[in-house]
Amino acid sequence: MSHTGSEAKQPLLDVQGLRKYFPVKGPLGVLGGVKGYVKAVNDVSFQLYEGETLGIVGESGCGKSTMGRTILRLTEPTEGKALYDGGDIFQLSGKGLRAMRKDMQMVFQDPFSSLNPRKRIGQTLEEPLAIHAIGSRHERTERVMEIMHKVGLQLDHFYRYPHEFSGGQRQRIGLARALVVNPKIVICDEPVSALDVSIQSQIINLLQQLQDEFQLTYLFIAHDISVVRHISDRIGVMYLGHMVEQAPTESLFAQPLHPYTQALLSAVPIPNPQKRRERVILRGEIPSPLDLPAGCVFHTRCPFVQDVCKSMAPVKQEVAPNHFVSCHLYGTERE
Ligand code: SF4
Repeated sequence: MSHTGSEAKQPLLDVQGLRKYFPVKGPLGVLGGVKGYVKAVNDVSFQLYEGETLGIVGESGCGKSTMGRTILRLTEPTEGKALYDGGDIFQLSGKGLRAMRKDMQMVFQDPFSSLNPRKRIGQTLEEPLAIHAIGSRHERTERVMEIMHKVGLQLDHFYRYPHEFSGGQRQRIGLARALVVNPKIVICDEPVSALDVSIQSQIINLLQQLQDEFQLTYLFIAHDISVVRHISDRIGVMYLGHMVEQAPTESLFAQPLHPYTQALLSAVPIPNPQKRRERVILRGEIPSPLDLPAGCVFHTRCPFVQDVCKSMAPVKQEVAPNHFVSCHLYGTERE
């Protein structure tokens, strides 16, 4: 589904001012006290609309996976809200938390590491249904068979063990496990980056088919902007825990505004030489999230850095319909 201009619509998930900091202990461990914080996610806000795919892209370590895990409460947030179904996910406990966990599932980069090697796939896929007390034993088996068929697994795979499957099949199992409880939102964390290129497109196509069939909403996290482009209606670009740009996919590619987005896009191979972008080479290394630069976090690598960038953080602004950027090159508002 394309979501480009329906901001009047209520979002399915509304993330506001999310921060996730990890304390770093001194050399004496707990006795040494906290010597600082790794600021993995810093004041990130976005909305996810029903039926869309919002892609989140950024280099490894930019905080995108931590953000996904925090929304699902696999790790606790430091600050912020995640509004879903009339409540704040970060305030849920007990029954409410379990209900949210049924509605929101995650697909991981390496499904193998989360599969119990001693359990048959059928048992593994039945587990989430048992946890959420869905159906009788017979109904659970039927549901597992149905979802296995939907993700392209054979029914005899039900009795096999994880080591008997290829990488692509394991990711199909990961998808089946996420979908078996009939969720509304699926957070896909680098779901194809460990797969061969030919298998990647099969899994991406499968994700799109499943989205149409089950009216799923995806938060699709990946470092490869070409993959993200293929599946996403909108894209958010993250750098050092900050969402620096957010736009409908077409406008992001037609007119990338943030210098970091421009650098990411300039590295994407384009077959037509007339449409090739000039390569933007970023200088220096990504700073440590333990010691973030003052002002704009990108200023140590930005080809367009100005004095103001070194002391003042840019404010997120909407510079075209649904196209948001945080950079002093645009507009006049400053924080
Ligand atoms: Fe570059 Fe300044 Fe924009 Fe940051 S605010 S991206 S340093 S121009």
